[in-house]
Amino acid sequence: MGESTGHKMKSRSKKPDTLLAHAGRDPARNFGVVNPPVYHASTIIHQTVADLEKAQKNRYGIDQVVYGRYGTPTTFALEQAVAALEGGSRAIAFCSGAAACYAAILAFVKAGDHVLVTDSVYGPVRGFCNGFLARFGVETTFYNPTIGEGIGAAIRDNTRVIYLESPGSLTFEIQDTRAIARLAKTRGIKTVFDNTWAAPLYCKPLALGCDVEVIAGTKYIVGHSDAMMGLAVANEENFLKVREAATLMGNHAAPDDCYLALRGLRTAGVRLKQHQAAALELAQWLTKRREVERVLHPALSNDPGHHLWKRDFTGASGLFSFVLKPGVQKRAIDILLDGLELFGMGFSWGGFESLLVPVYPEHLRTAVPWQDGPVLRVHAGLEDVDDLIADLDAGFKRLTAAL
Ligand SMILES: *Cc1c(COP(=O)(O)O)cnc(C)c1O
Repeated sequence: MGESTGHKMKSRSKKPDTLLAHAGRDPARNFGVVNPPVYHASTIIHQTVADLEKAQKNRYGIDQVVYGRYGTPTTFALEQAVAALEGGSRAIAFCSGAAACYAAILAFVKAGDHVLVTDSVYGPVRGFCNGFLARFGVETTFYNPTIGEGIGAAIRDNTRVIYLESPGSLTFEIQDTRAIARLAKTRGIKTVFDNTWAAPLYCKPLALGCDVEVIAGTKYIVGHSDAMMGLAVANEENFLKVREAATLMGNHAAPDDCYLALRGLRTAGVRLKQHQAAALELAQWLTKRREVERVLHPALSNDPGHHLWKRDFTGASGLFSFVLKPGVQKRAIDILLDGLELFGMGFSWGGFESLLVPVYPEHLRTAVPWQDGPVLRVHAGLEDVDDLIADLDAGFKRLTAAL
């Protein structure tokens, strides 16, 4: 941050689209070049013993280029831009979104502690809690994502972290983040909020009262399906804890990937507008299909989380799901999916291309078992929405013919 990419803009007073264009770059320091250069580094040469000793004392490489693993000016530029955008004092770049999620939990727990995690959490985070935290004596309870104030009853004396993700992975429940963060604060519990769905432009979890925001930059920040990136954002105090965890685990975000993330960030505002509009149009179209039981998208006015979404979000992204009528057989769904022309079948999302995958919340949920019909998850890309609708329409015709 500081010394290598200190730009002149007073970030707090600027609107998001302005920050997207300007934060984290300073042409005057780079021969007038608009974008920060990609610095590849392991060794950093220090000019004097005094400089060397200063670097050695800087254990987490903060505000100084100390060693390649702790980041180069390219990393710092990305971190500075994301911190400015998210209203945190600091951001940390990670090698993946998952690494950011895990470090944000590990920063605040020790053996004997307890964490509360939303039942709608991104699947691999559940795996981390059950398969890794448990081995080190940290117990996890998964809670109903719509619990709201009821979280109070789930809190124990040894609860250290509440981990939120809103809307939830696969099924898009919106949480009462303000109520949960408020209760957590009175009990001295840290709240971590996974803000990947909102891109993160359309939700500000730190302003809602959370302590740490984590983002899979792999999705909308990178935006082109060609790099892995994670970010965590926090105030100074919480940042130091997460940074310590990241450093002790040997985290490193590669400079080329930081560059791609920064480049993606510049256009995230305009891309998101189109992802949002296309997803809403597809969602509305799907609500009218007789093959569809319901559409899981918090921006739809009849969604159970709609009022909370309106209160806490300024927009929606391109990712949502729909539930097919109960009893539709896998064989018919496979025929719908196999013949798609534009929608790709693949994990991750947030790139320019549309995706459609079957997902299985019934294999994951433990607090509230998932009992509805088969679920398909849509990512609306940047294609013309009429073409996307035609692709889905042909898919439904194949499905109906196969029933
Ligand atoms: C994809 C995703 C992650 C993990 O990000 P990776 O970069 O794939 O490791 C974390 N949280 C959510 C909500 C995600 O969708």
